[in-house]
Amino acid sequence: ASSASSASSASSPSSLLQPHHRHHHRCHLRLLNGQQWRGVSTSTAAAAPPSSSSGEEHGPLMLHPKFWQTLDDSGGPAHFWGEQARRHITWYHDFHTVQHHDTDRGIVSWFLGGILNASCASNCGRCNNVIPVVKPTNYSELHAHSANSQLHLKLAGVKQVSYSELHAQVCKLANVLKLAGVKKGDRVCLYMPMTPYVVYAMLACARIGAVHSVVFAGFSATSLRSRILDAGCKVVITADEAVRGGKRIPLRQTVADALASDGCADLVSTVLVQRRTGVEGGLRAGDIDLIDAMAKERPYCEPEMLFSEEPLFMLYTSGSTGQPKGLVHSTAGYMTQAAVTHRAIFDYQPGDVYACVADVGWITGHSYVVYGPLANGATTLLFESIPTYPDSGRYWEMVERYGINQFFTTPTAIRRLMKDADEFVTKYDRSSLRVLGSAGEPLNPEAWKWYHNVVGDGRCDIIDSWWQTETGAPMLAPLVGTNNHKPGAAMQPFFGITPAILNDDVRSAVLRACVYRNPSMARTIHGDHERYTSTYWGVYPGYYFTGDGARRDEDGHLWITGRVDDVINVSGHRMGTAEIESALLEHGGVAEAAVVGYPHDVKGQGVYAYVILKAGERVTAETADELKAAVRRSIGGLAVPDVIQITPDLPKTRSGKIMRRILRKIAANQYDDLGDVTTLSNPEAVTAIIDDHKAIH
Ligand code: ATP
Ligand code: MG
Repeated sequence: ASSASSASSASSPSSLLQPHHRHHHRCHLRLLNGQQWRGVSTSTAAAAPPSSSSGEEHGPLMLHPKFWQTLDDSGGPAHFWGEQARRHITWYHDFHTVQHHDTDRGIVSWFLGGILNASCASNCGRCNNVIPVVKPTNYSELHAHSANSQLHLKLAGVKQVSYSELHAQVCKLANVLKLAGVKKGDRVCLYMPMTPYVVYAMLACARIGAVHSVVFAGFSATSLRSRILDAGCKVVITADEAVRGGKRIPLRQTVADALASDGCADLVSTVLVQRRTGVEGGLRAGDIDLIDAMAKERPYCEPEMLFSEEPLFMLYTSGSTGQPKGLVHSTAGYMTQAAVTHRAIFDYQPGDVYACVADVGWITGHSYVVYGPLANGATTLLFESIPTYPDSGRYWEMVERYGINQFFTTPTAIRRLMKDADEFVTKYDRSSLRVLGSAGEPLNPEAWKWYHNVVGDGRCDIIDSWWQTETGAPMLAPLVGTNNHKPGAAMQPFFGITPAILNDDVRSAVLRACVYRNPSMARTIHGDHERYTSTYWGVYPGYYFTGDGARRDEDGHLWITGRVDDVINVSGHRMGTAEIESALLEHGGVAEAAVVGYPHDVKGQGVYAYVILKAGERVTAETADELKAAVRRSIGGLAVPDVIQITPDLPKTRSGKIMRRILRKIAANQYDDLGDVTTLSNPEAVTAIIDDHKAIH
């Protein structure tokens, strides 16, 4: 599983890429036509690299003309990514080798020999460009507590940051970090609200070669402590308070609680505090006042020269399946893919206003609030609030106010907003919108349709992108302008991505999604390379194993069926959770559903469904039967839930994902053994579900 390809000649020496070379007509549609989509029947056979034998040719699709000009992967993935890296990234020194993989040892490397800095030149800090880029939307919330809060929300001035100001602020913050003793390779923990300072801090780390570890500023002291310790952060950057949804969140206090343990207090030498609200007592003895310290610094800091493979940042996964993993991303591979995908997957065109409302605490925020948009010189929007504050029209009011062209959120937010009247959406002008993005969980067809019809007036592209903290950028997504989107399907691989669906067992209905190679793949788990190698590269040698199930339909399009860990085995038939959940949503009265397996005397495993009804929906004697009928209609008798528990809430990670592993334990009566719950955002939901479960049984 070791190979390399050189930059000078993409058609040598890797035999792995030959299938692409054999079809050398200029056709970049091949990735769409199913050639790489293969089912392999045994796990050892699966280890073989992609071959040309399964090439099924579908008729040409009409692509958006823009892509004809910019993307062409007919030379194979290495050639494609090599070209893209040279086109989108500013290098101090060109790379000599596009990629080198030795996956047996968990070595993934791209653009070897290249030297760059992610905060520099056209990468993220174009110095002389005055396009406004960062528009935090709710400095107004600071005033939300004042008498006239509604008025402030509408009228408060919006802070815009130009690229030249961004550059100056990044340099100043970088100088502050240097003064605090931060050196190249040191990890810096960012526990900050969504204001321009978190962007300055990320890029300042990048500028001096330090590795940022952003922790979502909603995590508890315990979660923060374990992440500081695991990453070995000597410096923490935080704020006195955050303001979210009209509430103040005492960040500095939480940092103090996190540091109040021997290990952590000894490790962290410096706490830098951004005065966000200016609350009295917001800074503690020994703290550095970030804004004051920056004011004293020179607005220039010489960038550190970094080799391609040197780390840019580390980031913890959401913790849906267990203990979060601290994944480390490289500088060049990550930057290249973030820049290219931001442009191509979301159809970013110069001059557009791009809004990804994810928090920077998640990979989506890293790639599509910060690094991707800034690398493309885009106007990017920072969203500090929640979608339901002051009411469920918040996003769409923003769309109208800023003329947003691309809007990107999560299925959990969409399902939450769907519960309320469409009026919250339709009263705002959304004519600027072209692309509506989603990622993080399956976007069920019902939610897809609402997003498409109500938010997008039936005319915008819905881009349901499938990816992970590990992959850094989407692996699968529909292509803008192709008009062949299927609600609920992740559709097809992005250019230069080679996915495979592999299977241990021919009889199994649930197939595993794997990816061959891509530049923005995480390079290691911080402090545990062995876990990285075995988890991701040890399952199907030569392939990165995603942990998700997928199926390919008759047109060659891919559907994510849910996590492999969540697969339910009913009388020997294996089923993914996503399709049963979507079937429940088709009932019309269901806002959200989570399905798990539980021990069943006869069938081995039974299907247990937790269901949240839409606002105003009443539970009647027929509700359970109607829900079962909905599943029988769309999938069949085998998938019909044995138990349906109507619940007001579901346990979710702080990134908004349903934690099925907890629901599985409850369904199996294992209340005391719920596993790692530190990433849970709503523990009270678990208690309520356990009480109801006990009442049912
Ligand atoms: P952990 O790895 O700690 O268990 P996590 O997998 O939830 O947590 P993330 O990296 O934030 O952490 O999420 C990636 C996962 O989210 C994917 O593996 C997949 O299960 C799910 N996912 C992301 N996007 C989509 C999508 N568009 N459709 C379906 N599932 C998705
Ligand atoms: Mg995961």
